Amino acid sequence: MSKYPLDPRQLMRENTRKQTVPKMDFLRYLALTRGIRKDPRFKLSNQEIVNGMVYFRDAAAMRNLQEIIQAHNTGSVPETEVKLQQEAKNEWMRKSDGITVEMTLDALENVRGPDGSGTYTARCISCAERGGDSDSNHLRFHPEKGLHCFAGCFAPQILGLIRMKTMEGSK
Ligand SMILES: [Zn+2]
Repeated sequence: MSKYPLDPRQLMRENTRKQTVPKMDFLRYLALTRGIRKDPRFKLSNQEIVNGMVYFRDAAAMRNLQEIIQAHNTGSVPETEVKLQQEAKNEWMRKSDGITVEMTLDALENVRGPDGSGTYTARCISCAERGGDSDSNHLRFHPEKGLHCFAGCFAPQILGLIRMKTMEGSK
């Protein structure tokens, strides 16, 4: 998606002329907030939506809109979002007993994502041991929800293989 062409004040001015509240098509909103949806302030489910349009009715909503556009235009991430993303990463470190999100992603084959919900898809390392999952779509990894294989591999087994691969790599 290209840079958002409007400055929030411009969006507001345009809308004020028509005597309406600043608003944006929800698909555009989703595109703009991709990657910053850990922060509940930016979640689509927490916005006011009428007929597929997201409305920014009060001062708080306008502030959020400004942060969203600023993040998009500068490629930066709002501070609150950075904090929440870091917390999710720390959560995985605790769960996995010291394996970071980066180490996990490095140990896996054909990683795609994250999608809008923060989930990665990859080849299941446990299925791969038996030559399985050649299409690389059995494994889902989410830093807070953990590892899940659609073929039913045991999550601790998957983590064990990731740990082995990480240790091999660091020798
Ligand atoms: Zn598997």
